[in-house]
Amino acid sequence: MSEGRSNKSALHQTAEQFHILVDSVEEYAIYMLDATGNVVTWNTGAQKIKGYTADEIIGKNFACFYTAEDVAADRPQRNLREAARQGHIRDQGPRIRKDGSIFQAEIVLTALRDNAGNVRSYSKVTRDVTDQIRSRELQAEKIAAEKANKAKDDFLAALSHELRTPLTPALAAAVYLENNASKLPSEFADDVKIIKRNVQLQARLIDDLLDLTRITRGKLQLHLEPVDANALVREAIEIAHSAIAAKKLNVSTELTAKKHHIQADPIRLQQVFWNLINNAVKFTSPGGQIEIRTFNDDCLQFHFEITDNGIGIERDRLPFLFTPFEQADPSVSRQFGGLGLGLAITKRLVDLHNGTIQADSRGRSFGATFKVTLSALPQGAQKPSTDSAVPKNTAKPLRILLVEDHRDTRHALSRLLTHFGHQVSAADTTQSAFKLIASRKFDVILCDIGLPDGSGYAVVSQAKQEWPIKAVAITGFGTDQDVRRCKAAGFDFHLVKPIDFHELEQVLDQVGA
Ligand code: ADP
Repeated sequence: MSEGRSNKSALHQTAEQFHILVDSVEEYAIYMLDATGNVVTWNTGAQKIKGYTADEIIGKNFACFYTAEDVAADRPQRNLREAARQGHIRDQGPRIRKDGSIFQAEIVLTALRDNAGNVRSYSKVTRDVTDQIRSRELQAEKIAAEKANKAKDDFLAALSHELRTPLTPALAAAVYLENNASKLPSEFADDVKIIKRNVQLQARLIDDLLDLTRITRGKLQLHLEPVDANALVREAIEIAHSAIAAKKLNVSTELTAKKHHIQADPIRLQQVFWNLINNAVKFTSPGGQIEIRTFNDDCLQFHFEITDNGIGIERDRLPFLFTPFEQADPSVSRQFGGLGLGLAITKRLVDLHNGTIQADSRGRSFGATFKVTLSALPQGAQKPSTDSAVPKNTAKPLRILLVEDHRDTRHALSRLLTHFGHQVSAADTTQSAFKLIASRKFDVILCDIGLPDGSGYAVVSQAKQEWPIKAVAITGFGTDQDVRRCKAAGFDFHLVKPIDFHELEQVLDQVGA
């Protein structure tokens, strides 16, 4: 055998093997086109990706893989021309399978020339990248959604801060007027009550916004301890007392749970009960009926149930009740107000206590029932019960330094504190606060954090170097992180605007004790 012939047969063998190799590839469609774009060869991958058998497609023009728009735009032939000009091109775009379905393709089209340099054919490699593109899109969507969510949370936190600021002086002024009601013409007494009630309501809505952002950011920390859930229910009913009385509602209670101690955050669990009681009061007509029960089952569970005979809830709205910003019925919310956050917060608080909450109603005007189930502690695990109401000391007059740059807040707070019998000096900047600290002695400093020429942290650390003074932060920020920062900076207490004056009095009582 001559050398030339054996070379030729080796070459033939290699070409054969290459053909088999190409044919067996499944992930890529690898095929040849003639100079006009008609399909000449077809591998297993091509059949798998595009759905045609070799018999069905060989001889047809590759334009049939393109969408109608691409064909109308002459894209197949343009791609051939470009590949001929540049040697090869890469492209990505939609392609059509035999069954008409569309997939996203990534292609390489290479021009193959004869010895004279004329394009004789093209090789084409196509990969189906639909899944990769979809997962890239999903990833991008996820990142965009997370960003949007964070922006929304930041916005809500900033919004609630801004909204709180003007409420503090308004509430302080209303409380001051209420405390001096005897000096007012009697015809104004109701107006003062209206102002106070509505400012408090506004504060409550803002708190809801802030609570929701804290919960969704996972920033809400529960301070768990054994608590008497029956007592919390009683207190929550007591808080709603005036609203119940105003609507002449008939509230019956049957708090028969024997195992009524629960590992819970007392403030948050009371918020759960209060929210549900508040809704029942809100959505029941004057003279209506509310039944509140607690009981145990065989499995040591504590059950709280509240049933009203109010406006009820359409059955198809029940699944959405616990979704933030969802209200059962737009016409209801127009009439009753609210942000649709109460139940979302309630559900998340119950979740955080590893409990469950359920809503039920037979429909509009059939009333509603809400049920909360929590694990009760085994008997004996609870602390000896203490009265949760803080004993009220008679206020001891204190020397107070009030540092607050918001003029109305400074004015209203200082007048109210003076009215409570304290001696108040006020400063509106860190500099004026430093001067006062250097010139006289104070028992307590009530201090805003953001001041025009610095921060309240600096004022408190300076004051604490001078005297063993107690420091109370008064801020519009109520996040757990803010509270921690204040504690770290030396503040002993943290009150969030608008200040609850009952809470402020309690803090001052403790300072003076
Ligand atoms: P909102 O602050 O708007 O009242 P909630 O989250 O507390 O928000 O309640 C969401 C919606 O669920 C309310 O707007 C109301 O339509 C419905 N709802 C809640 N409690 C009751 C109830 N006891 N009776 C009838 N509808 C209720």
